[in-house]
Amino acid sequence: MTLDYEAVIGLEVHVQLNCPTKMFCQCPNRAGDEPNLNTCPICLWLPGNLPRFSREALEKAILAGLALNCEIQRESAFDQKVYYYPDLPKGYQLSQFHHPLARNGWLDITDQDGVTRTVRIQKIHMEEDVARLVHEKEGRTSVSLVDFNRAGAPLVEIVTQPDLRSPHQAMEFLRCLRAQLRTSGCSDCSMEQGTMRVDANVSLRARGTDQMSTKVEIKNMNSIRHMGDAIAYEISRQANCLQSGEPIVLHTRLWDPDNRVTTAMRGKFEGPCIPDPSVPRIVIDDGWLEELRRALPEMPDKRADRFSRDYGLSREEAAMMSSEREWSDYLEAVVEHGVAPRLASQWIIAQLIPLFKSKNQDFSENAVNPERFAGLLLMLQREEINAKAAKEVLKAIHGKEASPEEIVAGLGLRQVSETDEIETLVDRVLAANMSAVENYRKGASKAMGFLMGQAMQASGGKANPRLLKEVMQRRLQ
Ligand SMILES: [Zn+2]
Repeated sequence: MTLDYEAVIGLEVHVQLNCPTKMFCQCPNRAGDEPNLNTCPICLWLPGNLPRFSREALEKAILAGLALNCEIQRESAFDQKVYYYPDLPKGYQLSQFHHPLARNGWLDITDQDGVTRTVRIQKIHMEEDVARLVHEKEGRTSVSLVDFNRAGAPLVEIVTQPDLRSPHQAMEFLRCLRAQLRTSGCSDCSMEQGTMRVDANVSLRARGTDQMSTKVEIKNMNSIRHMGDAIAYEISRQANCLQSGEPIVLHTRLWDPDNRVTTAMRGKFEGPCIPDPSVPRIVIDDGWLEELRRALPEMPDKRADRFSRDYGLSREEAAMMSSEREWSDYLEAVVEHGVAPRLASQWIIAQLIPLFKSKNQDFSENAVNPERFAGLLLMLQREEINAKAAKEVLKAIHGKEASPEEIVAGLGLRQVSETDEIETLVDRVLAANMSAVENYRKGASKAMGFLMGQAMQASGGKANPRLLKEVMQRRLQ
C-alpha cells in the first residue's frame, strides 16, 4: 500500500452461543451430527409453528454484551429480515435490527507500537442461524443439499465502529474479543469450527481527509491470520484502483486462502426488516442483570492490567498471559510458590506453551503441574542451575513423576557457584588461550565472548554465568 492512503476497517463478527438448545426450540445445538437429525417443525420452519424464545440464549447473549463493555438494553425485540435463499426457505431470518440487545461497547487493543487504542462496538444483536448448504457432485451432476441442524442455532452479531486502521489491529481486536467472550462463558469462539465467523468492511481514504472510498465487504475468512491476509490484500487492491482511477463499487468479496486473493461474489437480494409479531418483546430486569454481572469471572483485559501493574509484565506479556484463562491461572499458581512473576511468564511463553503445543497437549492435562514448574524456576532463581540446564530439566520432568530436584541431582546439573572452583576453571581456560587473552588486552572485546564460551564448555555447561563473568573480568584486568 502506498503511504497516501489510510485504511478504515470495521468488523461484523458472528458468534454462536454455546447453549445446549437452539434459539427458538428444544433441538440440540450441536455440530457434527448426521445431517437433519436435530430438527423439529419449529426449526424446519414449517407453517403453523410459533418460535419459543430460549432464556438461556438470552443469558449467553447478555454475557457477550457485558464482556464487551456494552450497555445492555432493558428492552429489545426481534425483526424479520426478509430475504429468500435456499438456506432460509421460510423467507425471513429472526434478527434484531431495530432494537438490538446491546449498544455502545468498547475493547482496548495494544497496537504494534505498544500504544493502546480503543475500538468502539456499535451494537450486538441476537439472531437465528440459517441452514447449511452442502454442494456436492453426484456422478456428473452438481447437487446442493440442505442440512437444517444449524438452522435456528443461537447467534449474536457484534458490529464494530470503523475504528480499525490496519490488518494487525483487526487481528489484535479479534484475539481480544475471542479472549473476552471465551472467559465470559458464552461461546468457544472457534473460527476453525465455525462458531466465530468474521466479515470485514474495508475502505480507503487519502490520509488526513474524511473522503472515504466505497466500502467493500470481505467474507469467508476462517482464521484470524486469513482475515489479516485478506484485509491486507484488499487494501492494496483498492489502493491500486484509486491510483489508476478505476472506480470502487460497493460489493462483497470472498477470500480465497489458496490463491491469496479476494474475488467478487454475486450480489444477494436483501429485503426489508419488519417487526416480528411471533416473539414477545424482551424485557430484562435489573436484578437479573446485576446477578449476571456479578457472576462474571475477571475478564482478560482487567487481568492483563493487573498483570502489568502488580507483576511488572510488559503489555505484550500481560496480553499474552491473560488471553487464555488456563494460562493466567497457571501463572498465578506458579507465582504463589514464590517465583518472580516476570521469570514465570517468560518461561511459560517461551518454553512451556511451545512444549505443550509440540506434544498436542494443553494445560489442563497437567503434564507439568504448577508446583513442579515452580520448583524448577525456583532453582533457576536461586542460581542453583542455569537456564540451559533448566531447559533440559523441563524436558525431563514433562509427563513424569520425578521432581525437578531429583532430575537435577540425577543428571548432575547443579550449577557451579563456588568462587574458588570457578577461579581455578577460569585460570585454566586463560592459560590455554593466551592469544585470545592478548587480543582482548589489545582491545578486541569480542575475545571475551570466546573465552566465556570456552570456560562454560569446560564446566560442562554448569558454571554460574554471572559469577563466571565476574571472575573472568577480574582476571583479565
Ligand atoms: Zn427444532
